[in-house]
Amino acid sequence: MPLRLKQLELHGYKTFATKTDFQFSEGISAIVGPNGSGKSNIVDSIRWVLGEQSYGLLRGKKTEDMIFAGSELRPRAGMAQATLVFDNADGWLPIEFSEVSVARRAYRDGQNEYLLNGQRVRLRDISELLAKCGLAERTYTIIGQGLIDTALSLKSDERRALFEEAAGIGVYRNKREDALRKLDATQRNLERVLDILAEIRPRLRSLERQAQRARDYDQVKDDLHGILKQWYGFHWHQAVAELDDRQARAEVAAAELVERQARQENYDQEVAGLRAQIAHTRQALNAERQTASQLHAEDERLARELAVADERLRSLAEQGQALSAELPALEAQEQEQAERWQAAQAEAARLQAEAGDAQQQTQAAQ
Ligand code: ATP
Repeated sequence: MPLRLKQLELHGYKTFATKTDFQFSEGISAIVGPNGSGKSNIVDSIRWVLGEQSYGLLRGKKTEDMIFAGSELRPRAGMAQATLVFDNADGWLPIEFSEVSVARRAYRDGQNEYLLNGQRVRLRDISELLAKCGLAERTYTIIGQGLIDTALSLKSDERRALFEEAAGIGVYRNKREDALRKLDATQRNLERVLDILAEIRPRLRSLERQAQRARDYDQVKDDLHGILKQWYGFHWHQAVAELDDRQARAEVAAAELVERQARQENYDQEVAGLRAQIAHTRQALNAERQTASQLHAEDERLARELAVADERLRSLAEQGQALSAELPALEAQEQEQAERWQAAQAEAARLQAEAGDAQQQTQAAQ
């Protein structure tokens, strides 16, 4: 028989804290060690990696018990991994690889992962693959401690089951039993169908009529569906054409709007210019009004002054007339005064001459 199991690698599994490799060569491999050194743990790891779900059989209570729990020298591991490597050069496993590795990992949170040639797969994928070649979980290909004693004390039919499983027949026997169970169930279903048929037969004519009506209904429904399709298609095309038309019109209107907005802006600018001009003119008008009112005030003032001047002129004219009337008398007075003045002058000259004579006489007397 060709060698199929090539290698078992344990890392963090129970006592195997560090990575440990078991290479299986031709013939029988034996592992020897003192009690409690971990020999049975190796066997447990093989069961475990093949998908064993019973922690009782793996001599533990939960996933964490599979992971190295720590020792005085080493801290506990966070994960346990066991990998079995099979030689598949002759294709005994139905998978296209010449070497097949099956691995199981467990974490402290209880999560378990399965890997087939390094790719994560479901437990079911591993179980199905192994079942096809007699390596399914719980087959007694693995004979644990004490199993020989148990086997010897079994009844003959139980022992037969044990050997059948060890030879890989168990899977097919289970399948056969499964198939027989399914056959039985199918038989019961068939009987049930026959019962229903017997029940239905008397109502066949009415059911046929109902079936015909259902077919007619389907036909009418299909026809209606076809007609509605045409109807909606027609309206759809019309709506699309109308939409195109309205879109074109909307585009024209949008262009016109843009143009009008531009014109509006021009008008706004013009209006702003005119408003500025009006404000300017208003300012000038106000200035003119102010000037006019000043001129008006000046005019009134001048008119008043003119009136006063006229009045004065008139009064002066009256005074002039009065003075003119007084003029001949004044002229006569002036004549008289002139004559008096001349007489006074002559008197003064005479008095001066007398004064001169008197002075000469005075000087001569001295
Ligand atoms: P025997 O020949 O008596 O059956 P054995 O060599 O088969 O012994 P095992 O039963 O494989 O030994 O190993 C038992 C040892 O494994 C115990 O000392 C136990 O403490 C240790 N062990 C079991 N689980 C773990 C774990 N999770 N972490 C660390 N050590 C563990």
